[in-house]
Amino acid sequence: MDPSAPVLVTGGSGYVAGWIVRYLLEDGRTVRATVRNPDKPTGLEHLHALADAHPGRLTLHRADLLDDGSFDEAMAGCELVMHTASPFLMGRLDNPQEQLIRPALEGTRNVLNSVNRTESVKRVVLTSSVVAICGDNVDMRGKDRFTDADWNTTSTPNHQEYNYSKTVAEKAAWAMCEAQDRWDLVTVHPGLVLGPSLTTSSVSGSMTTMAHFIDGSMALGAPALQVGVVDVRDVARIHIAAGYTPSARGRYIANAETISLLDMGNALRRKFGNRWTFPRIELPKFLIKLSAPAAGLTRPYVERNVGWPVRYDNSRTRDELGIEFMPAEQSVVDHFQQMIDDGIAKR
Ligand code: NAP
Repeated sequence: MDPSAPVLVTGGSGYVAGWIVRYLLEDGRTVRATVRNPDKPTGLEHLHALADAHPGRLTLHRADLLDDGSFDEAMAGCELVMHTASPFLMGRLDNPQEQLIRPALEGTRNVLNSVNRTESVKRVVLTSSVVAICGDNVDMRGKDRFTDADWNTTSTPNHQEYNYSKTVAEKAAWAMCEAQDRWDLVTVHPGLVLGPSLTTSSVSGSMTTMAHFIDGSMALGAPALQVGVVDVRDVARIHIAAGYTPSARGRYIANAETISLLDMGNALRRKFGNRWTFPRIELPKFLIKLSAPAAGLTRPYVERNVGWPVRYDNSRTRDELGIEFMPAEQSVVDHFQQMIDDGIAKR
């Protein structure tokens, strides 16, 4: 890989992409970032600041996942493409097919159609997710942990729609990769990404999850839900290592450790408990089930996730990409501190 060749980051305005773009620039790379609307007056301030701090090395380009060919111009001359753009929306959606599944699947195909047309591209790093590995926590029954050999086989267009969108998009990417031999594919599988955001405009599920600690929805207690957590800065470093390590191959789990929502509340109370109230107990599952529809959750989701453990094996990411993961509690605390600094968490 020529270190002076530009690298393309799709969805450059996003939470995860912001850190990827920043670290690439700090590493001396030239970056092209795609956004749907490069002229929008808000939401891109952090990218404009990065462009000013690294003159001539960051440009923004208009591209839409649903518009085949729209990535061609930005990709011309790139050897490495990092495809992060994909909606990560939580809660009840009016039309998951249009809001999640089509942009993820059709968008991945469109980006890779551009890759197929762009002779310079040698590697694609795709931001997949642990949800392409595990659909519901209960799927771990009979296993010690999930590895990169596992696939989500339980999500559908009507159950865990986001998880389904990531699974079908990643499968499509592998199929397109295997149909040619010029470029290779490396996929990155983050758990719930937490840690400071460079933008307040992201609507990522990471923000929605942390907002639950201040919106009163966990005032009585937390669901007994375990989640894999990883720091956004580690996720960015993993993308870059996946892109520039010649021997990198296959699927890399980007998950520091599994913690419960109650563990997160406890970490937040230790640091911010003098100003905010955080959950102290886990609520019984039947109560969570009863209140699920009002909280935007389905009962099958609660049934198949609350109270079930989940674990992921990140050893290949540590060994082959040289990543030392930040503790999950640090990411939770740093994320909340950023919410305070940005005026999102107020007292
Ligand atoms: P985010 O802040 O919402 O970023 C998603 C980006 O996708 C946005 O910047 C958006 O760009 C772009 N996008 C959405 N629809 C698009 C469309 N039709 N055309 C072009 N761009 C579109 O979310 P994130 O958390 O950073 O997620 C980034 C990636 O990480 C996604 O692939 C997500 O599935 C994956 N991931 C996230 C987590 C997590 O916990 N956050 C965990 C695992 C995997 P514009 O609106 O500016 O165009």
